[in-house]
Amino acid sequence: MQHLLDPSSWKSLTGWFAERGQPAFRAAQIRKWIFEGRAESFQGMSDLPKSLRDELAAGYQLWTSKVVRHLQSADGTEKLLLELSDGGRIECVLLRDGERRSICISTQVGCAMGCVFCASGLDGVDRNLTGGEIVEQMLLLQRLLPARERLSHIVVMGMGEPLANLENLLPALDEASAEDGLGISHRRITISTVGLPKQLQRLCDLNTRYHLAVSLHAPNDALRNQIVPVNKNIGLREIIHAADRYFEVSGRRLTFEYVLLAGVNDQLRHAHELAALLRSRQALLNVIPYNPVAGLPYKTPSPAAVHKFRDILVAAGINVKFRQRKGDEINAACGQLRRSEPALSQIDS
Ligand code: SAH
Repeated sequence: MQHLLDPSSWKSLTGWFAERGQPAFRAAQIRKWIFEGRAESFQGMSDLPKSLRDELAAGYQLWTSKVVRHLQSADGTEKLLLELSDGGRIECVLLRDGERRSICISTQVGCAMGCVFCASGLDGVDRNLTGGEIVEQMLLLQRLLPARERLSHIVVMGMGEPLANLENLLPALDEASAEDGLGISHRRITISTVGLPKQLQRLCDLNTRYHLAVSLHAPNDALRNQIVPVNKNIGLREIIHAADRYFEVSGRRLTFEYVLLAGVNDQLRHAHELAALLRSRQALLNVIPYNPVAGLPYKTPSPAAVHKFRDILVAAGINVKFRQRKGDEINAACGQLRRSEPALSQIDS
């Protein structure tokens, strides 16, 4: 059965209505129910004829994922563990920050990039998510909000490498930004990537206007090769060049992300080298002190080490921000999303 939330379904739906002698505005009615009305089923779409609701339910599937776990943290963060129709599992997160209501969504079941400090890639990748599965995460997270609240931001920073699934991601983000979709401005949607130059070039060619974040994590290739293994085939120069091109084409200020791992990439020489790399760029540097992942040997640097690192960058004129840790109490912080929960004893430790 066709998944109605898949962005490709809407075209065929128009024909489907025509075949049944139904007016074309039915599709718009349904979109309103789904994106604004937060309808849970076709039956709830009360301005459609009853017989049409039954036919829709027989011809189209609205939901394909099941919420198998819903966790809430004292800081307002909520995390959903979803089971997909083939049994695959992913996680996605709702974050509250002042007026902001951001969601962090996944693009793949697992991840092939192998970053040594991240939970999402521990078991490699199974498959890309479909466009419908990506839209479904947005809607399931939206439903966690009271009716008067709207989603304001999307970060594509969940499980997976978004640029490895552009084909399905971009149509899903179109639904997020469409007026008759979630209506979230392009500027409030961020795609975070490990840095795949060819795919970045494709984004440039498509002239997308999304905000781009590039996960750097090391100021030189020797170190980056160790902690971000895909770097071996690419190299920092090429990535930064591709990111610069994206900035030229999109006009959006770039963000670089840097996970701070104690004793690995948090030394003063790393800060100096990073400052030299970014000095000539109008970029924002987002530093993320490591969020612990059960089973991995890395450590979060001490506050004093973090301050020293920051002082060097600030003194060099780099625009640096520290990402506030959110949702770590429920393993919903950056890098902690995975296919299944680790044993409870591991969470508690
Ligand atoms: N694959 C994409 C998006 C997913 S990760 C990317 O690499 O950008 C989103 C961000 O969280 C990335 O910057 C990632 O490096 C970071 N991250 C991964 N594991 C982390 C951890 N344990 N602690 C803090 N940040 C982490």
